Amino acid sequence: MTDDGAPPVLDGHNDALTRLLRAGGVSAAESFVDGDEGHLDLGKARRGGFAGGFFALWVASPDDETDHRDEMCAPAYDLPLPAMLPREEALPIVAAQIATLRRLESLDALKVCTSVEEVRGCLATGTLAAILHLEGAEAIDPELHTLEALHAEGLRSLGPVWSRPTLFGHGVPFRYPSGPDTGEGLTAHGVRLVKRCNELGIMLDLSHLNAAGLEDVATHSAHPLVATHSNAHALCPHARNLTDEQLRTIAATDGMVGLNFATAFLREDGQMRPDTSLDTLLRHLDHLIGILGEEGVGFGSDFDGATVPERIGDAGGLTTLRRSMRDHGYDDELMTRLCHGNWLRVLERTWHAPSGGEPIGVSERDGIAAPGSVEPAPDA
Ligand code: ZN
Repeated sequence: MTDDGAPPVLDGHNDALTRLLRAGGVSAAESFVDGDEGHLDLGKARRGGFAGGFFALWVASPDDETDHRDEMCAPAYDLPLPAMLPREEALPIVAAQIATLRRLESLDALKVCTSVEEVRGCLATGTLAAILHLEGAEAIDPELHTLEALHAEGLRSLGPVWSRPTLFGHGVPFRYPSGPDTGEGLTAHGVRLVKRCNELGIMLDLSHLNAAGLEDVATHSAHPLVATHSNAHALCPHARNLTDEQLRTIAATDGMVGLNFATAFLREDGQMRPDTSLDTLLRHLDHLIGILGEEGVGFGSDFDGATVPERIGDAGGLTTLRRSMRDHGYDDELMTRLCHGNWLRVLERTWHAPSGGEPIGVSERDGIAAPGSVEPAPDA
């Protein structure tokens, strides 16, 4: 429990490593401890009961360093997707972000967790838990050697694309209004990536994939389906959001969705504006719970990667959000599930195989092709 008695938050997505890299990488790590202008640092995490989350490794396109938030305040928009990024450009950036995260660990700011036991231990002791997530697989080679190396370095979650196309698949553009059915899904390399992630016990992230890509992951992955930071298309018709049909596909696998605080994916008008009410978030939570159930929803804040509602402001504002959820009528059990319980449930089913060998999910996924060569996760 946190100071105000609310359950601690395990969060599905933040871009703190991208912010720290822009500020100097390893040499900027101490600003995470001392505090700065970002959404997420040690002080804000403690103040808001942010107990841990998925820290994204993400590579900006070198020719696209501009901030597109102004363009996302128009009544309609369709931002051109950057071109595919060469692996030799992506890999050093990812390495620098991992080095920054490990520097944070050596400063005792957080612990990089690779098992659910470690995450639970952090929740119990108040150490910030960091789960290593790769948002867009540009750094990975077709033979997947880099995937093996990143897994050994602690990688436990991966999105084949961050919207921009990769060797492995195609994503949705930042387009409003738009459905998510915007083109081809995974490539043959992408299917192999999905299967190898299953074998290694790396969680796959559907956020940023298009409709065909989501279907391809559903077809080839034996794990519960997860979108770490996406919202309900029925309430905000943005290409990045999930239609009710897609939410039902996720629900059928006992998967989950992390609520994204990015206002462009929350607001009915699709605009990236801070003056967005907490009621807007609560409407998305109610809608997601309505389809995914109380065990299928969590947070995926997008801290340091998006404009969040001004009432939240930064990680310290999670206290305000949880108070509004409580006032909205969510009981203790549901609060615990939404704040961290559901993430623990899904990670337990993804990072560990049951005794007997087959990963959980295969037997319940009748009718969905399961990979034929799945082995127990090595860290089970
Ligand atoms: Zn993202």
